[in-house]
Amino acid sequence: MTNFLDLEKKFGSGLYSLKDKVFVRGEGVYLYTDQNEKYLDFMSGHGVACLGHAHPVLIKTLEEQSKKLVTLHSSYPNETRAKLFELMAELTFYDETKCFLVNSGTEAVEGALKLALAYNREKKDPNVIAMKRSFHGRTMGSLSLTFNPKYRQPFENFLSKKVKFATYNDLDSVKGLIDENTACIITELVQGEGGVYPADKEFIKGLRELCDEKNILLIFDEVQTGMGRCGKMFAYEQYNVKPDIIAIAKGLAGGFPIGAVVSKQHIWAKLEKGEHASTFGGNPLAASMAIATINTLKEKSLPENANELGKYIIEKLKKISSSSIREIRGLGLLIGIQFKSKSGPYIDYCEKNENVLFLSAGMTVLRMLPPLIIEKIHANEAIKSIENALNFVKDKDN
Ligand SMILES: *Cc1c(COP(=O)(O)O)cnc(C)c1O
Repeated sequence: MTNFLDLEKKFGSGLYSLKDKVFVRGEGVYLYTDQNEKYLDFMSGHGVACLGHAHPVLIKTLEEQSKKLVTLHSSYPNETRAKLFELMAELTFYDETKCFLVNSGTEAVEGALKLALAYNREKKDPNVIAMKRSFHGRTMGSLSLTFNPKYRQPFENFLSKKVKFATYNDLDSVKGLIDENTACIITELVQGEGGVYPADKEFIKGLRELCDEKNILLIFDEVQTGMGRCGKMFAYEQYNVKPDIIAIAKGLAGGFPIGAVVSKQHIWAKLEKGEHASTFGGNPLAASMAIATINTLKEKSLPENANELGKYIIEKLKKISSSSIREIRGLGLLIGIQFKSKSGPYIDYCEKNENVLFLSAGMTVLRMLPPLIIEKIHANEAIKSIENALNFVKDKDN
């Protein structure tokens, strides 16, 4: 039999640069290789595994629901799906909530965009304002809202010409782009892929006021920041500002693929039956996993844990005196260390020598996206690995 690594290389798309580690299982905040080496996982599948790996509640839910019913089109009512809707309502717009289920972040953004455009269908030539440095996904609609030229360039001809990019955290820049045809403004509360840049309180408050004044819909892309990641169930709660439409995915079902578009009833009323749908979206299995995840996040006060440990990590990192660090940024357990040089060598060092896994966010930022179940000992382990990396990478450079 051919070695599976050769098969990956031969038949895989080649779109991912494959690492040389083979992880075969996970437990809590740790991943284990085929050699049974243990790694502290501060990536959690790009912020997906908010409850860590092999969480007993998720295992039980998966088993029980898959024995009952895996798939059922959303044209048939389903108790599990209905319960998820009720939970989402409790977390967002209460009795006014409408929720549409999809399977990924990019689909949640697509849904939010279509909803906003349908709501503005009387506008003749609607346009949308997104932010520079934004990331909203890689399908054509969401890619139109994503700023990074590297992701856009080959497909530019197919992307919407109706998107204008404002400077993040600069209200005047947004104001300058608004006209009578502006349908919506979309932003992340912390720009994740763009380099871990939290929004200023004044900026978010200002966006809300601007949108209210000009009758423009405000969309928050909470795909990465939501589900407790930033210290509250949704990051907008840290800003005391509510959007009109929310896009949710990544952590929503603790690793099971799902996404959601949530908004108020009067906004949904403009989208007609059949104008949007999803075959997989709203299947009972994904819904049950989301319910189990939300209940666990609440029962174990994991957003609060993210808030406390996020503050703890940021405080500790800021105390490290190193001329290699440009800035420490973050909100909850979405944390970035910006170096003066490339972050790659630091991330590689931590993986190879410290058995700690971090992500990058752009060229110079090391990103921490740990499971929300981490404890202080894990935080300390991660911080220690950064200290060691700083010493090593510096020594090597000198
Ligand atoms: C990851 C991400 C997306 C895209 O999610 P996919 O599930 O990869 O399609 C969209 N928006 C933000 C803010 C993200 O972090």
